[in-house]
Amino acid sequence: MKYTVLRLTLLCALCASVVHPFAADAPRVFRAGAATSNITPKLGTSINGNMSDGKATHVHDELHSRAIVLDDGTTKLAIVVNDSCLVPREVFDEAKRLASEATGIPASHMLMSATHTHSAASSASVFQSEADMEYRAFFAVRIADAIRRANNNLAPARIGWGKGSVLGQVHNRRWHMQPGTVLKNPFGTEDQVKMNPGMKNPALLKPAGPTDPEVWFVTLQRTNGQHIALLADYSLHYVGGNPGISADYYGAFADRIQELLQADRQDPPFVGLMANGTSGDINNIPWRDGDTNKYAPGQKIKIVANAVATEVARALPGVKLHDWVPLAAAQKEISLGVRKPDPAALDRAKDILAKAPNQFPRLKGLDEIYARETVQMADYPDRVQLILQALRIGDLAITAAPCEIFVEIGLELKAQNPFPASFTISLANGYNGYLPTPAQHALGGYETWRAKSSYLEVNASPQITAGLRELLGQLKK
Ligand SMILES: [Zn+2]
Repeated sequence: MKYTVLRLTLLCALCASVVHPFAADAPRVFRAGAATSNITPKLGTSINGNMSDGKATHVHDELHSRAIVLDDGTTKLAIVVNDSCLVPREVFDEAKRLASEATGIPASHMLMSATHTHSAASSASVFQSEADMEYRAFFAVRIADAIRRANNNLAPARIGWGKGSVLGQVHNRRWHMQPGTVLKNPFGTEDQVKMNPGMKNPALLKPAGPTDPEVWFVTLQRTNGQHIALLADYSLHYVGGNPGISADYYGAFADRIQELLQADRQDPPFVGLMANGTSGDINNIPWRDGDTNKYAPGQKIKIVANAVATEVARALPGVKLHDWVPLAAAQKEISLGVRKPDPAALDRAKDILAKAPNQFPRLKGLDEIYARETVQMADYPDRVQLILQALRIGDLAITAAPCEIFVEIGLELKAQNPFPASFTISLANGYNGYLPTPAQHALGGYETWRAKSSYLEVNASPQITAGLRELLGQLKK
């Protein structure tokens, strides 16, 4: 008898949840979760980011994949920011496959990016650093783990977004120089602009492009006000200066914002994330004004992290928190041409390499290093496929592309956007080198020099911008 009553009660409870006439009026629940994975490599691994390879002999601070998962009740999104210089598509694709299998979140709803710290393990081959394949396999699993754990931590949440401005930490690093300054490049021709032209160089004329001082942020808070995570986006290449493996200012920001929000030692832990905005031509060095301060190793990283985190903490109380917002994702692949060397350029490169006293990985000087890049680019495919992606979080749009995107492109996407709030994340879902505008290509300079770090066709940026706009249009419907 008891059994029958229990069974009936269970059945009724089941009916109520499935066909209750008022089910449609049930309040919509928005949920968020966050988690990290430790992705620190073993000592001895190759470090990405310079033209000569370096091997890790020390860990200054641990590297992480930092993930948030959002859920509006019908759609889930995952964003993972990874302490890495460059992450090739193969690693992200594998991480998405594993995370999707475990959580059911579609791969197209996952945005994965590299911060661009120059003191992390090599998962992409660039210049004289070769990808560490053992690390890549570990890395993909750990990215997926971060999503799985963030998904496990989903809890009712409120969400908001806003922006601040940190002017003094971003400087355009490409400069026009005084007339008569000869700017030779490693291809035997001359450039119109120079990257990193030298502090207070008397030949400085004017920066070759703008900066974007905006820092955007998304705050996720439990319904009791406890902070779950804060994702920020700032257009700064990296800072550098910590000895050994380090997450650079991106990791220092995560620590500092946690401190400022008094979100230390929570269960589950608070997660801070700093994504790379559109910083292809932006760094932290005040070329014209100069900076005569002597910084201890890593001190500059802390200064920048503190400046950006303090600004976010200042702007945060003014943000409107939503109990629920709709989520959506749109993604497409585009095919772009590769700037391959012509036969004369290839012959010249082979000649330089033949005369080089040392070969890879001990090539020295730009001419030798770019000669090797030229020979390798000759074997590249004629066209490559890129993932373009846009996420909608209420009235906020996040666009993403797998390049080191020039700041002009980010500014244009913000200015002409169907969403009132928007920002772009660089180095997302793969790695296809620098993305200068066609006008910046015409000026030359390091970021345009053909190599594994810069090879997309000159007209790539208008096609990428058009593709992202198309995705934004789909999300706005
Ligand atoms: Zn870079």
